[in-house]
Amino acid sequence: MNIPNSILDTCGDSFIAADGDHIKASTQHFDDTGLMAMLCQHDIPIYIANMHTAGEKQFYAFALISALLKDLLKDWTVGLLYDIAYQIHHSLLKWNIMPERMEWIEFGVSVFHAYGLANCGITPSVEGITI
Ligand SMILES: [Zn+2]
Repeated sequence: MNIPNSILDTCGDSFIAADGDHIKASTQHFDDTGLMAMLCQHDIPIYIANMHTAGEKQFYAFALISALLKDLLKDWTVGLLYDIAYQIHHSLLKWNIMPERMEWIEFGVSVFHAYGLANCGITPSVEGITI
């Protein structure tokens, strides 16, 4: 998933999740502002992170991924679908987070978010078929 920085920078306009500064909930009256969940392919929650910031920060995704990987064998390949998976992948590499596990993580974006990707300048494809 090699995406140029110029495209990553423009994704904040298309995906609210990519804009960590986008205020979704006030922290003035509430300590918790939301939940971020990691689900298995059967839509069953595996881990849930309690959000305490106004925006959807990437560290919630990092925490969920880290928790999952701690419970799995080190050489298991994990497929992660996330609407801004390319942003998470880029940040994990940039900040050298979990470098020992990167080769075992396959990042993907669900077809549901294909139009959002097109707005970012990314041409989505499914197994070689351009959408
Ligand atoms: Zn399952």
